[in-house]
Formats: sequence, structure tokens, C-alpha cells
Amino acid sequence: MPREVRLLSDVLSDFARTMGTDFPIQGILDQLVQGIVEVLPVTAAGVRLTGPGIDPGYVAASDRSALHFEKLQSELDEGPSLVAQETGTAVVVPDLRAQHDFSTFGPLALDAGVVAVFTFPLRNGDAQLGTLDLYRDAPGLLDLAAMTAAQTLADVAAAYLLNAQARADLQDSSDRSRASLLHDPLTGLPNRILLLERLEHALLRGRRSGTMAAVLFANLDEFTLVNDTHGHRVGDELLVAVAERLGRQLRPADTLARLSGDEFAILCEDLVQTAEVDAIAARICAALGEPFVLSMGQVDTTASIGIAVADESHHLPEDLLHSAELAMHQAKRKGGARHQIIDMGEQRLVDERVSLQRDLRQACARDELLLEYQPIVGTVDRRIIGVEALVRWLHPSRGLVSPATLVPLAEQSGTITAIGRWVLEQACQAGSTSAPAGALPVSANVSAYQLMSPNFAATVEDVLLSTDTDPGLVTLEVTESVFLQDSQRALVVLRDLKRLGVTLALDDFGTGYSSLSYLKRFPVDVVKIDRGFVADLGKDHATRAIVSSVVDLAHALGLTVVAEGVETVQQHEEVEELGCEACQGYYFARPMSAEALDALMTHRVADGNPRLPVDA
Ligand code: C2E
Ligand code: MG
Ligand code: MG
Repeated sequence: MPREVRLLSDVLSDFARTMGTDFPIQGILDQLVQGIVEVLPVTAAGVRLTGPGIDPGYVAASDRSALHFEKLQSELDEGPSLVAQETGTAVVVPDLRAQHDFSTFGPLALDAGVVAVFTFPLRNGDAQLGTLDLYRDAPGLLDLAAMTAAQTLADVAAAYLLNAQARADLQDSSDRSRASLLHDPLTGLPNRILLLERLEHALLRGRRSGTMAAVLFANLDEFTLVNDTHGHRVGDELLVAVAERLGRQLRPADTLARLSGDEFAILCEDLVQTAEVDAIAARICAALGEPFVLSMGQVDTTASIGIAVADESHHLPEDLLHSAELAMHQAKRKGGARHQIIDMGEQRLVDERVSLQRDLRQACARDELLLEYQPIVGTVDRRIIGVEALVRWLHPSRGLVSPATLVPLAEQSGTITAIGRWVLEQACQAGSTSAPAGALPVSANVSAYQLMSPNFAATVEDVLLSTDTDPGLVTLEVTESVFLQDSQRALVVLRDLKRLGVTLALDDFGTGYSSLSYLKRFPVDVVKIDRGFVADLGKDHATRAIVSSVVDLAHALGLTVVAEGVETVQQHEEVEELGCEACQGYYFARPMSAEALDALMTHRVADGNPRLPVDA
């Protein structure tokens, strides 16, 4: 085997062995030029990558002189390498002195000691990736075996190069897609995923170093308004400006992230005391409170910032971020435009409310709600003229939950509509079944939210029909709060209800805004004087004067008056003197179960005396 062929096979097998899966482009070129000067009768070798399909600009050379010739051809834009590159065929210049094609490169190369040049294209189909250039200090041709060996090596190297380039491209695109996975496209800031990654490291570092990490959770106040008023383009512009402004407030090692919409989070590390994060938050709040000048003009905004400092309760980065978010909501509840370190006491109350709300959604289905009934009696004869249905919730672990807690919860979670309907159905059924002497009038309370909910009157009508209840036996009690929200609509609903034939009572009169004009403007039939007034009747003249004039006005308008919360014989006497037609209160009877009410009514009627005894 000729020496060149044996050595060529050595270089090739060397290539195959060392070009592992992640051999870099520069490494391939270096190996090529080193290998080739060992196997072929040349003094130096160089490679230039210039073609499409590969990163141009790579250069390798077996020594300084070869490097010089490569650069020279690039600078002069002339030389055998450029011809081979363009034509895709080898260029052979056995004696530069006799070759006049390279008028600039030729003399300069000769001056530097090169006499013969052999250039082989690094072929990639019809195009060339670059060239392999062999230099010799003596004139003369290479023999056929050497020429073939050189072209074979150039071809093999080209194949490796393409492979390496494909790998590099893949890496690039996976780097890019990882970067886009971890960043918010609008602001270019880290997103939630990246923030959580950094937070995890920060928590670990904090534990080791004894310093603190904190998260600030910032949310613009009324950002939706900006979007709604000026459009999303301006909204986006504002978010970008906010991101920039936030960035300027931070210390170099802090991480600013955009979580979603107008939610930004800042991770501060290496804090020694909480006061530091407090100061950062104050600075940010002040900065975001300054007007923003956008393309459409000035936009004013403020931000609410919640802060959570890592402690042993935050094992997970998500926990810390969540705490900061809760603190942000606390800041919002206080009116916004402020910062707030999480208040765990308040948070426990909020958590409790949330968990009660969750339970309440299932209370109806789980049969945990029940009604008690409190008799309403005629003031003079103490005859039972009706009952008020009062809801209770028997919570599986908390026991009895009062309506004072239950009703607002139900209003907040929207369950009041379903609960209200259930109350009405139960009350109607109790009114018609628990009265041996005939149907018993029953009152049910209706909260403002319930009254204003869509189709309330239709619901009432539906319940009356489905329970076969005489509307004349049903009183709906509403409080003045219904008139505060939207008095026009309240008036419409109340009129619809009146048309159904039910009685309307104004409950707790005297609390709240207590405008006497309500009695005239709204179609109510009954006024229930709040028990606060009844309790104070004997104590001061002013209360007595007020109640007296309410009773007189009610009577003048044709309404009847019920005194609530009558607890003593004196109170009974006083409300009787003032002319209240009916009374309700512990003095006569406490709220009781449906069974107890049944028993009471049966007993009273059997006695021929449906009056309540009083044990004064
Ligand atoms: P309300 O409609 O004014 O009902 C009277 C409340 O006063 C009842 O409290 C009753 O137990 C209490 N009470 C009656 N007599 C006396 C007395 O002599 N002394 C004292 N200290 N209290 C007396 P309860 O059952 O806790 O209900 C409180 C409020 O919750 C009710 O006030 C009503 O506004 C609301 N509520 C009750 N049930 C429902 C319901 O089914 N739906 C709605 N929306 N609200 C309800
Ligand atoms: Mg009531
Ligand atoms: Mg009341």
C-alpha cells in the first residue's frame, strides 16, 4: 500500500474515532489541517469556511504562514481558494511564478515563501462550504494519489462540518425556545417559571447564608380601566413602561418578572432586615404613582404591592409567591396605591371565609340548612298572627352558624339565590302544614342581593305555585339597604312582588339610613321597628319620640307596625302604648324548630287559645 494511502486511511480512522457526537466545528478543521500536513507532501495547510449552510468566518491553519495566506486571500478577495470555492473544483497552481491569474495574491505569496498552491472545495452538493488549501515551498504537482487523498479528506471534513452545524443549529433553536419559554414576550422579562426557578435557588441560598429573600407582588390599580378606555395597544405600552420603570428601582441582583397581565413580581435576595424590602416597596409605589407619558398622552396609575418575606413556613417557592399575592390583595382591600407586608391574622380570617364559602356551596345539597320559626303576636291579645322563618346552618365541624355570618357569605359567593329559594319553599310549606287551625302567615327574609338578582319576582311566583301557597299568607321582609343600591330597580321589583299578592315588610327599621320617605315611596305594608329602638324605649325620651313618630307616620300611610325584640313586660307595655299592632321577641317566644312550632300550635289550638303565654 503506498505511504499516502496508508496514512490517509489513518487520518480517516482518526477522524471517525475522535469526531464524537459533539465535536465542535473548529476542532474538526484543526484536525483536518494537522492530519493533512502529516500525510501529504505539503508544507502547510489551511481551511476557510465561507459558504452558505455553515457559519462563515471559521479559519484553521497548520501554522502561522498558512493562517497568513488564508487571511490574505480573504482580504484581497483573490486567490486559488476563491476560485475553488466558486467553481467547486480543485485548483492546482504548481508554480506561482508561472501563474498570472492571481496578480496581487501571487507576488505576495511568493514573497512569503509559497511557490505551489493546491485548493480543494469542501463540497456540499452543488455548493461549497469553503476550501482546503495546501501550500508548498517548492514548485511541482502533487501526484494523483495525493490529490485524491486531499479531496477525500475535504469531502469527509465537509460531511462532519454539516453534521456539527446541524447540531449547533439545533442547540441554538433549543436555547431560543427555552428562552422564550422562560420569558414574557411583551416585556422580555422573566416569566413565572423562571421566577420560580430563581426563587427556589434564593430560598436555598438564604437558608445557607442566613440572609432573607422576599417577594414583592405588584399589581396596577385599575389597569382594566386603561385597557377599556384606551385599548389594548395602549395597555401594552403602559405595561412595557411599567416594566422599565420597575427595572430602574431594583438592585442589581434582584429579579423582576412579569407573571401575567398587570402582575409583576420582584425577588429580592440577601436582605438583612425587613426594613430594606419595605423601603424598596415604598420606592416602587412612588415610582409607579408618577404619570406615564405614552404615545397617546399621559396615563396616571398606581400600584398595590404585597410583600412576603421567606421564613420556615415557605418550603416551596410557590408558597412565598402566593403569600406575596395574598398581601397584594390585602393592600387592594385597603384602597390600593400602597404596599403591605402579609398580615397573617387577616389572612387566616380570609382563608376561613373562603373555606366557609366553599362549604356553604354544598350546604343545601348536604341538608345542613334548617329553618327556625319565631311567632309574631298581636300586641293586645298575644294571639299568634304569624311566624318569621329564620335560617340556620348546622356546619359539620363548626356547629351552628348564625345568619349574621351565613347571609353575607352567601351573598359574596352568589349562593344566596339558591339558599333564598330554599328558605322560601320551606317557609311556604311550614306555613301551610304546621297550622291545624288553618294556614299560618309566614314571613321570610330577603336580602338586598337576592331581591335585586334577575328574575326574583318570577322565582317567588314559581315557589308560591309549586307549594300551592296563598300569596296573602306570605310576607317578604326587606331592609332599607335594598333602596341604597338602585332604588329605581328596587321599586320595580317590589311592585312586581305586590302584584303577586304577597305582603311586604320593611325590616329593622331605624338602623341604617332610615329615611322616613322610604315608607311613602315604596309599596310596603308593614314596618318592623328594630329591636335596638325597642331596647332603648324605656331608657330615653328621644327614642320614644322617634318610635312614636314612626308609628304615627306608618299609620298615617296605612301601614301596620311590628315591634321587634320585645324582651320584657315593660317593653311590651310601651310598644302597646305607642300603638304597635304586633310584637315579636323573646318575651313571647324564641325562634323554634318546625316540630316545636307544630307542637305549640296544636297545643294552643286544642286549648282553644292560640295565645302565647307570658311568664313575666
Ligand atoms: P331579623 O329579620 O330582624 O330577625 C330577627 C332576629 O332577631 C333573629 O335573629 C331573632 O332570633 C332575633 N330576635 C328575635 N327576638 C329577639 C329578642 O327578643 N331579643 C334579641 N336579642 N333578639 C331577638 P337571627 O335569627 O340571628 O337572624 C338575624 C338576621 O339574619 C335576621 O334579622 C335577618 O335579617 C337575617 N336572616 C335570618 N334568616 C334569613 C334568611 O333566611 N334570609 C335572609 N336573607 N336573611 C335572614
Ligand atoms: Mg326579618
Ligand atoms: Mg329585624
